[in-house]
Amino acid sequence: MPRDYYEVLSVPRDADEATIKKSFRRLARELHPDVNAHDPQAEEKFKEAAEAYEVLSDTERRQTYDAYGHEGLKGGGYQPNFQDFGSISDLFSAFFGSGGFDTAFGGTRMRGGAVQGGDVALAVQISLQDAARGAEVEVTYDATALCETCHGNGAEPGTPIVTCDKCRGAGQIQAVQRTRFGQMVRTALCDKCGGDGKIAEQPCHTCDGRGMVARERRVKVDIPAGIADGQRMRITGRGHAGERGGPPGDLYVVVRVREDERFLRDREDLITVVDVAAPLAALGTTIQVPTLDGEVPLEVPAGTQPGETIVMAGRGMPPVGRGRTGDLKVVVNVVIPRRLSKKQKDLMEKLAESMTEDNLRENEGMIAKLKRALAG
Ligand SMILES: [Zn+2]
Ligand SMILES: [Zn+2]
Repeated sequence: MPRDYYEVLSVPRDADEATIKKSFRRLARELHPDVNAHDPQAEEKFKEAAEAYEVLSDTERRQTYDAYGHEGLKGGGYQPNFQDFGSISDLFSAFFGSGGFDTAFGGTRMRGGAVQGGDVALAVQISLQDAARGAEVEVTYDATALCETCHGNGAEPGTPIVTCDKCRGAGQIQAVQRTRFGQMVRTALCDKCGGDGKIAEQPCHTCDGRGMVARERRVKVDIPAGIADGQRMRITGRGHAGERGGPPGDLYVVVRVREDERFLRDREDLITVVDVAAPLAALGTTIQVPTLDGEVPLEVPAGTQPGETIVMAGRGMPPVGRGRTGDLKVVVNVVIPRRLSKKQKDLMEKLAESMTEDNLRENEGMIAKLKRALAG
């Protein structure tokens, strides 16, 4: 049984069209393939949201669904067909048009006909080192900008802008549909003038009358030290340009921190594993340990056991914002020598013969040592 459509979009049952649209756009943004390449479930979740939106954004389908549920829709001949798409990118394109994701977020109508520009989402990859120190990364992407030839009005300079003949200046057209519930009149935005009610007699040659052109943008993004994999940064006003005086959209940058084979990251702490030969672990030794600042010497005390952890304070990741810098935890992997030579074998045998209970006992605390001294 499919999930309840209202639940999928997290909207109340009496939500108006704008609320439903807003919620779907938020979901779509979260599930965008550029942002979710690592999440195999994103595609299914998007399909589910798209289906819910397709039903709830359509007055007729919504009425059917409210009255008769999923079964009613099926009975009415509605068949969601999101399962046939090859990839989530194709699906986005199918749903939002060839502009895909970006146009999907370009349509926030504001007062006075102004339209806020759409958001742009992209991902950047940085190394763990850069995540520790912070980095400035330059990103390049295409975003729409006002056409400089026509200053956004879509008309070839010096030519008039006339009333749209399709909608006669109304900006919207009405279409009559025959449905199971009788005739329904739907009002739609005029596709010829895009809702302006006016069109250029001669479209601008630079932008084909759209008033907007795609332009490459380069933006330097300051990634703060300590950033975690998957964290998202919002750069205000660096998205697509607004229309009719509307503000531009935002740029969202998802930061992916590449895995470093030397370290495991546990919030602010780093964990690394180093091999130490058993005789050296028994005798005590100094080893070289990888840190974010290169290799540093570390003393391994005599009698260090397999798996023991030595903490190097402050050698981990810095916190984002307040907090303390993490530690580097060095796990000592005591390696038992293999493939012994004749001489080594002799030495090992001698060592083995000389072993006493005391060699196997854990280090005693101060009190236990004193007691033994006093008793002896
Ligand atoms: Zn133009
Ligand atoms: Zn029109």
